[in-house]
Amino acid sequence: MKVVLQNLTKKFPGRSKNDKEVTAVNDFNFEIPDGRLIGLLGPSGCGKSTTLHLLSGLQKPTSGRIFFGEDDVTGLPAEKRGVGVVFQNYALYPHLTVKQNILFPLQNLKGADKLSRSEMLEKAYEAAKLVQIDELMDRKPSELSGGQQQRVAIARALVKRPRVLLLDEPLSNLDARLRLQTREEIRRIQKETQITTIFVTHDQEEAMSISDMIVVMKLGVIQQIGKPQEVYDDPVNLFVAKFLGTPPINVFDGKVRDGKLYIGDEAVLDIRDVPDQEVYVGIRPEGFVLCETGSLCCKLGGVEVMGRDISVVSTNQSSVGPTIRSIISAESKVDTGKAEVRFNVKPNKVFIFNRETEERICFRCSSAM
Ligand code: ATP
Repeated sequence: MKVVLQNLTKKFPGRSKNDKEVTAVNDFNFEIPDGRLIGLLGPSGCGKSTTLHLLSGLQKPTSGRIFFGEDDVTGLPAEKRGVGVVFQNYALYPHLTVKQNILFPLQNLKGADKLSRSEMLEKAYEAAKLVQIDELMDRKPSELSGGQQQRVAIARALVKRPRVLLLDEPLSNLDARLRLQTREEIRRIQKETQITTIFVTHDQEEAMSISDMIVVMKLGVIQQIGKPQEVYDDPVNLFVAKFLGTPPINVFDGKVRDGKLYIGDEAVLDIRDVPDQEVYVGIRPEGFVLCETGSLCCKLGGVEVMGRDISVVSTNQSSVGPTIRSIISAESKVDTGKAEVRFNVKPNKVFIFNRETEERICFRCSSAM
């Protein structure tokens, strides 16, 4: 089921004179193709949950429209939209068994949709099998792990075969290992069912790893939409560049002078097509190459071995953050006895941004220095 958001806006009025109106969702326009998993991503307060509530029908938009396929569902109540919703806190009924929890949405079906007991059980077991909890059907939620409870919540959302599945931070309450496992499970289930799924998270790694497409948001405004790798490789502004990637991008004060990009007094790249100006320079951690004659000189802080790679921690006066993190192959030798470390930079891992607007400035590169 294709989902279309058209000029979708949600404003919340201020509660008092000093409390300003908030535009939680500001003129959203995008289309989610049928059968895809899309990640809504952004820091706290950027409007992720509000977008989900508008899609589910829990809240009404101030303006704009929502379409599921060709159906305009903007005015439809939640129960008529055919959406399945999974929340962070599972929201299972504690006094009911797993089976009863999953059966619950089917028991409320009316009229032509009403099912016989055996039809309901068949559907409940089918959903439970899909999320691999069919052997736990007689337990109560308190007798399950967090990951198992979240699977029950997903089964309950899937049992009516929703047109659209909405997941609101579904992994937040799980520990690191379970998060990883459950996010892979969600991807598998989504691929098997082919239900168009919208997944909300503030965790960029989570969104990047399972989404076909991500929507990066800030203060109710969409910053960029695209495939995760494309957005990572081609961020439109400093916010997006900083939001995606672990360790995060390293940001420096820099300038362009006569076709050269400088960090402090050190020219790091020959660049074309950019007039002289002050800029922010962003360099991805994997964009540094250790080189004794490298153009960028940093004070060596330490080296962390991470198995396949090494993380070199260093400092530089022009760095905006307190430290610079560069990821290099474990085969490279870092002389930890030295006070300084020198790098060259990989042109495709370097971005420059306008100092005022923080929009990306595209450049062509002649050569690394
Ligand atoms: P989080 O990751 O913290 O859950 P979020 O990205 O989901 O954040 P929303 O919950 O959608 O953000 O909130 C977006 C903005 O709208 C915030 O500034 C929030 O304070 C405001 N907001 C949300 N719900 C209401 C409401 N019912 N009344 C007034 N303001 C609201």
